[in-house]
Amino acid sequence: MAERTLLTNARVLTCTGDRHERPIAADVLIEGDRITRVAPGIEAGPARVVDLRGATVLPGLGDAHTHISWPLDFVFDHATVAAAPPAPHILDVAAVTRTYLESGYTFIIGAGTTQPMDDLLVKDAIDRGLLPGPRIVPSGPMIAEAGGLGGDGEIMEVVANAAELRENVAWQCGMGVRALKLFISGDGVVPEFPSEDVYMNDEMLLAAAEEAGRHGAFLTTHARGSASVAMAARTGVRIVHHACFLDDEALKALEARRGDIWVCPGLHYLYAVVNGHAEPYGITPEKVEASGYHEEFRSQVEGLHRLREAGIGILAGGDFGHQWTRHGTYAAELQRYVELAGMTPAEAVHTATRNMGEAAGLPLGQVREGYLADLLVVDGDPSADVTVLQDPARRRAVMKNGRFAYVNPEVYP
Ligand SMILES: [Zn+2]
Repeated sequence: MAERTLLTNARVLTCTGDRHERPIAADVLIEGDRITRVAPGIEAGPARVVDLRGATVLPGLGDAHTHISWPLDFVFDHATVAAAPPAPHILDVAAVTRTYLESGYTFIIGAGTTQPMDDLLVKDAIDRGLLPGPRIVPSGPMIAEAGGLGGDGEIMEVVANAAELRENVAWQCGMGVRALKLFISGDGVVPEFPSEDVYMNDEMLLAAAEEAGRHGAFLTTHARGSASVAMAARTGVRIVHHACFLDDEALKALEARRGDIWVCPGLHYLYAVVNGHAEPYGITPEKVEASGYHEEFRSQVEGLHRLREAGIGILAGGDFGHQWTRHGTYAAELQRYVELAGMTPAEAVHTATRNMGEAAGLPLGQVREGYLADLLVVDGDPSADVTVLQDPARRRAVMKNGRFAYVNPEVYP
């Protein structure tokens, strides 16, 4: 018989409700790796009973734009990380996945590796129980177009046409990659490649989407300008990262695929940069000015309001791992959604839970019968104050696959 665990005396934020949902008093029965019942006063029969003493249980959090290749002390030195000796580097990567798990994150979607096999190697070790870490939808090397941002090939794969892109996607999928990362716009932080630049074309993206689909994989794109967002939406991309600028055409293209496409903004990253948090690391006010990030930030905030009105799914996530958005502070993204994008705290939590499961097509992100028992136990109510998710002292435990994967040593002796 499968292992049975009964969580009692819990407040359950199920993430099955609307944007105003609040925790309910309930027990949660877990059998094997699944949640099998959520109700008050469950008589479970033989089971391991864990009294949560009034703590809140919610689904483990998810992040849809992760770079586990970036070590805990990463300072934007991509080329150095790419050239680092692989053996010590992969231990750095393992430290990052452990940090995700201990921060309450049980699910991550890769957004491009710096050494090609980083996501795949660590995922394999995690899945075999050798390392602590979240469930991973692995990415591989990012793909750029010749002549575009990343087209120097220093840390990315470079393709020139649809045939080469298809071949690269097939190669990555053959290794096990399931989230392809394509660069289809510039980025203000590299002024020679401004955000409104568009790289690749419909033919290339359609070929890539078809090839990915054959392997059960999906496309994600770095797309900051509105023309690149529109192209991503009309060619079958699953996750659009950044989407800093949205014109009517881009919004319409996204609306046409509502429920089949998600936007992952990375709002906290822009917030941190425009508020000077990167200044100690050489991103001077002059550089920020030159990047146009002030305007991108204003535009992204406005865009998020429009996306919400249009019912486009938003995913939490966003390039964490710089010293100004350190690993372990991932839930700051949810705080920005509440402060800047008009979300309720519960709605912000949904971007990291229910929406993640829907985007990945996996039964996770809800405390619900039949769903994977990936859970987070915290002191306090994230649907009243989402910042409780950022406090390590409030994080009591993390479950993955129905087992305790992290227990806070400060809380439980
Ligand atoms: Zn990124």
